[in-house]
Amino acid sequence: MAVEKVDTLVVGAGQAGIAMSEHLTRAGIPHLVLERDRIAERWRSGRWDSLVANGPAWHDRFPGMEFPDAGPDAFIGKEAVADYFVAYADQIKAPVRCGVEVQDLRRNQGRPGFTVTTSAGVIEADHVVAATGPFQVPVIPAVIPQDAGVAQIHSSAYRNPEQLAPGAVLVIGAGSSGVQIADELNRSGRKVYLSVGPHDRPPRAYRGRDFCWWLGVLGKWDMAAPNPGTEHVTIAVSGARGGETIDFRRLGNQGITLLGRTEGYGDGSLSLAPDLRENIDRGDANYLGLLDEADAYATRNGLDLPTEPAARKREPDPGCLTDPILALDLADAGITTVIWATGFVADYGWIKLDAFDQNGKPRHQRGVSVERGIFFLGLPWQSRRGSSFIWGVWHDARHIAEQIAIQRKYMDYHAQAARQPQDA
Ligand SMILES: Cc1cc2nc3c(=O)[nH]c(=O)nc-3n(C[C@H](O)[C@H](O)[C@H](O)COP(=O)(O)OP(=O)(O)OC[C@H]3O[C@@H](n4cnc5c(N)ncnc54)[C@H](O)[C@@H]3O)c2cc1C
Repeated sequence: MAVEKVDTLVVGAGQAGIAMSEHLTRAGIPHLVLERDRIAERWRSGRWDSLVANGPAWHDRFPGMEFPDAGPDAFIGKEAVADYFVAYADQIKAPVRCGVEVQDLRRNQGRPGFTVTTSAGVIEADHVVAATGPFQVPVIPAVIPQDAGVAQIHSSAYRNPEQLAPGAVLVIGAGSSGVQIADELNRSGRKVYLSVGPHDRPPRAYRGRDFCWWLGVLGKWDMAAPNPGTEHVTIAVSGARGGETIDFRRLGNQGITLLGRTEGYGDGSLSLAPDLRENIDRGDANYLGLLDEADAYATRNGLDLPTEPAARKREPDPGCLTDPILALDLADAGITTVIWATGFVADYGWIKLDAFDQNGKPRHQRGVSVERGIFFLGLPWQSRRGSSFIWGVWHDARHIAEQIAIQRKYMDYHAQAARQPQDA
């Protein structure tokens, strides 16, 4: 069978793959994007029905196109986000081939480049960009046994309240996904328990500016990962119902029973860490710290923004916070479903190269792999805090395209020099 050859192969056509294609085209680098499903598939089938983007339309987009039919401050629904990337790919004429899965990648021996086996044949490429997503394989910690008499699903499999069996729901994890799902279930009339770990919770908006704006002007989206291991403090934000600040006290007062971190399980009962107060306090400190920084920035720059003292008002502590539950009998509480909003891990099993650390994470510098010719895009904290988000990946893609262009120059020189007659 004929082997197809391409300069640069991009694997995955989510927002990362589309951004990569735009920058490769700008740099004049021939390339092909392979996607096993559809463009931006995860925005369609890996998210719950009511999800809207966490950032407003003016922020959570690429520079080259605005969201059609939406004001700048709107929070775009997940299907419209997917449609946006399809339209974007069309606008930039991205060479995307859908329905093709990359299954295996190996380095060629004795010659440059890689041999890539796909579900539709073999491709040879000089450079490969893995743009397969920051959130690939759902993680469900092995805490509650499968025969415990409750249904257990991951947040990526949650769609809507009607999907779940009647009864109370325990949501474990209070990042943006867990907290939004818990809130939706509570509003639908379910009894909800929410296990809350450490989190950041910026105000949705403060003094008339969305938190995305504040994080931008304060340089926080551009922050490099502070220390290995500390990158993963989850951010609890929501664009639901026009955007709301996540306030765990309010959720508690609205009927959600807040719990500390889930620690273990035995005899039908869940054990919870005595850290609920600490986690809530830390979230508050993060919230108030951002207000302080925003105020200082506004003063320093003489910004004429309305003050907002009400943002510092605190709701009364709900009973679940003053008298936290440390053991929860699932049957007594009527819990029939547990939703694990506990994140994802990466799976690069198709890359047969020594490019990963002992935890399976890529070894790289700003997406440039230790394995020459391989690049990663869309990783959490790839170059900065914003790397796995829509606007951030676009900027990281430009850097990767530059790095590929630099390598191509070296090979061009080599080819040219090899053609010159050697000096005697
Ligand atoms: C619930 C949720 C809400 C989010 N909300 C926002 C938000 O509001 N704003 C924001 O900026 N970010 C948000 N994010 C973060 C981020 O923008 C998304 O996770 C986004 O989908 C990442 O895009 P990506 O292109 O890097 O990866 P993905 O969207 O995961 O795309 C990777 C693609 O690669 C394909 N693929 C994987 N393996 C292969 C293979 N072997 N061969 C071929 N194709 C393959 C997949 O099918 C997929 O289409 C959210 C994330 C989650 C989980």
